Amino acid sequence: MKIGFIGLGIMGRPMSKNLLKAGYELVVYDRNKWKRDEVIKEGAEEGTSPKDVASRSDVIITMLPNSPQVKEVVLGNGGVIEGAKEGSILIDMSSIAPLASREVSEKLAEKKIRMIDAPVSGGEPKAIDGTLSIMVGGEEKDFEECLPILKTMGSSAVLCGEIGAGNVTKLANQIMVAVNIAGMSEALVLAAKSGVSPEKVYNAVRGGLAGSTVLDAKAPLIMDRKFDPGFRIDLHIKDLGNVIETGHGVGVPLPLTSSVMEMFQALKVDGLGSEDHGALVKFYEKLSHIEVTR
Ligand code: NAD
Repeated sequence: MKIGFIGLGIMGRPMSKNLLKAGYELVVYDRNKWKRDEVIKEGAEEGTSPKDVASRSDVIITMLPNSPQVKEVVLGNGGVIEGAKEGSILIDMSSIAPLASREVSEKLAEKKIRMIDAPVSGGEPKAIDGTLSIMVGGEEKDFEECLPILKTMGSSAVLCGEIGAGNVTKLANQIMVAVNIAGMSEALVLAAKSGVSPEKVYNAVRGGLAGSTVLDAKAPLIMDRKFDPGFRIDLHIKDLGNVIETGHGVGVPLPLTSSVMEMFQALKVDGLGSEDHGALVKFYEKLSHIEVTR
């Protein structure tokens, strides 16, 4: 079986390398040549366009920034849809709007090309380790067929429902992460300004109900003033934009998400869009004129 991989960014490069390590034949494409070269060096073949990759593959994986790029690469001129064989399957692992997943899948179905949406959580370290959490939407038989491939990139892959359900799950994940970081930031700034060591507060609460994976991942980095991404504020803004569009489309008001979205927007205006989303603490620090340190 040959796999096509399109989108060799922070996530796509390590994910594609794990497929090579697992013994899959790979043909890859990204619009940046140096990114293609890095994976070709590890044994992949070079594709010249999404259409070319699709025509040479049984399964095509996309790992692109957002809905417009997925639509362009899959449905646009020289896109996957022009090259893909009947019966082949697209695994879109990008985090995009669920409605866009459904639109793309409907167009592909007209050409008898199958699709599942399979966005991931875990970031670059877990992409490198092959331990991503993968949230899937699609037909059960397509999910089962793709599972061995997904298992080379992730430690878990859960079928959440029909096409688009993977991205609905990812949006739910992004709400919880964003609001969790905001709550943690508000709390640590309160501690710092009250003259109580944020480190002591962190150690005292982390084993109780307020403890969380987000707290353990982000509080130490914040206290060490480490804001290299990780997961960029710009990408979280993109995801919360999809949350708000999707929520309002189905009739779900999102008061907490909207508040955190405006905090991220303020940080972007301050030029911090490329910092890790843990830099949300800087929004609170600016309001209170205090810094969270050890
Ligand atoms: P990235 O920007 O590093 O990579 C995207 C890649 O797509 C780039 O290499 C870019 O050149 C390529 N690309 C864009 N448009 C293209 C086109 N038209 N044709 C060919 N190539 C094109 O982004 P990333 O961090 O790898 O994220 C990819 C997806 O995974 C996003 O949806 C993101 O939200 C999601 N995600 C990222 C993380 C993370 O920590 N970075 C974690 C979980 C999920």
